[in-house]
Amino acid sequence: MATTYAAAAKKGTVLVSGASIAGPAVAYWLHRYGFAVTVVEKAPGMRGGGYPIDVRGTALEVIRRMGLLPQLQEAHVETRLLTFLDTDGSTVASAHPQSVMGGVEGTDLEVRRGDLTNVLYGAVADDVEFVFDDSVDTLTQHAHGVDVTFRSGTHRSFDLVVGADGLHSRTREIVFGPEQQFHHHLGYCFAGFTMRNVLGLSHEGVLWNTIGRTAALYAVRDSDEVHGLLVFARPEPLYDAFRDPAAQRDLVAATFAGDGWEVPTMVAAMRDADDLFFDVVSQIRQPRWTNGRVALVGDAAAAPSFLTGQGSSLALVGAYMLAGTLATHRDHTAAFAAYERETRGFVELNQARVGVGDATLCPTTAEALARRNERLRGLTTLPPQPGRPEHSALTLPAVAA
Ligand SMILES: Cc1cc2nc3c(=O)[nH]c(=O)nc-3n(C[C@H](O)[C@H](O)[C@H](O)COP(=O)(O)OP(=O)(O)OC[C@H]3O[C@@H](n4cnc5c(N)ncnc54)[C@H](O)[C@@H]3O)c2cc1C
Repeated sequence: MATTYAAAAKKGTVLVSGASIAGPAVAYWLHRYGFAVTVVEKAPGMRGGGYPIDVRGTALEVIRRMGLLPQLQEAHVETRLLTFLDTDGSTVASAHPQSVMGGVEGTDLEVRRGDLTNVLYGAVADDVEFVFDDSVDTLTQHAHGVDVTFRSGTHRSFDLVVGADGLHSRTREIVFGPEQQFHHHLGYCFAGFTMRNVLGLSHEGVLWNTIGRTAALYAVRDSDEVHGLLVFARPEPLYDAFRDPAAQRDLVAATFAGDGWEVPTMVAAMRDADDLFFDVVSQIRQPRWTNGRVALVGDAAAAPSFLTGQGSSLALVGAYMLAGTLATHRDHTAAFAAYERETRGFVELNQARVGVGDATLCPTTAEALARRNERLRGLTTLPPQPGRPEHSALTLPAVAA
């Protein structure tokens, strides 16, 4: 804990649950505005891993205002080629990633998720109290604050609590009720993990498809390791599998059993991976992100799903908006109302674009796959697409004085 921590308490104390993207980002801005911040993370340390993620549009401006743009430009992955393969392993098309996904070449950033979390953590680690390997057990709100009990048995009180604990947010569950009522399943599950670069890929991604299943290998620069991604159609969300890594591995292996190309090697690597990240492809849509003295941000409030490629960008923008409204409004009630009013339109616009990615990544019928392949063949002759308007659809208010 840094010396500035006690002095900062004059604005109030805030507990942030979750230390991935939204958590450290909101902690950074709250500290900068004079709040004393504690971040609790259930993992024993900052969690690395995860597929490379995009930071675009309005979120880039948040990063610039945090002074982190040079570090993230340094970490930029610069994928040069995406190659799509048919079920028999033959090439359907190769194209520049921005022809497929849309984006602004030379401006948008693509960084390894772990690089982004490390840069964000580095920006606040000296100024904010981090408590790892613990989590919120109960929250009791009253007129003057929130009493919190932690899994470790500790009791503490804070003026405000921010839930930045992801798609399956415990904060949301405690304050708003079961996840099921806000969970909109988009019909897929995915497993991401690191594995050996068996194909010698460099600065590129290769995606193999069959009906309802996708296997992708993604090489960040030149490395002995690549990111493996196995995506499969699954009409119902798998609530039970969220908590059982062994069941996740068995399910993925059974789903891809008998498939060709590099899939058997990938499944074997997935079984051994120590950084497996398994989840549903779902959105969180809820009418309110705040209740009393508790606010949600990032995936906890409004996960857009990785099909939009906007999860981290929404987390960064949401963090900026939430902290900014707390810094500029007379009390948390007015601030939370402004946070919802000023941020929701941007978030919902980005959530609404989900159909586009869906059709490209993992078509679920033979007709849809054939149509997707036809479209990709056409893309190879097109220049990169411009950035999508929804990525920049919010003009950030100035940094509070
Ligand atoms: C290890 C990891 C790998 C990921 N890989 C991918 C990927 O490959 N593709 C993809 O699309 N998205 C991935 N994501 C999700 C992606 O980071 C988010 O969709 C997006 O960046 C929004 O970030 P967030 O901070 O709101 O939520 P998240 O990144 O989900 O972070 C939530 C954080 O809260 C912590 N947490 C959860 N519950 C509690 C609790 N009860 N108490 C305290 N802490 C808690 C988690 O450990 C995590 O650090 C990954 C997330 C993690 C944590």
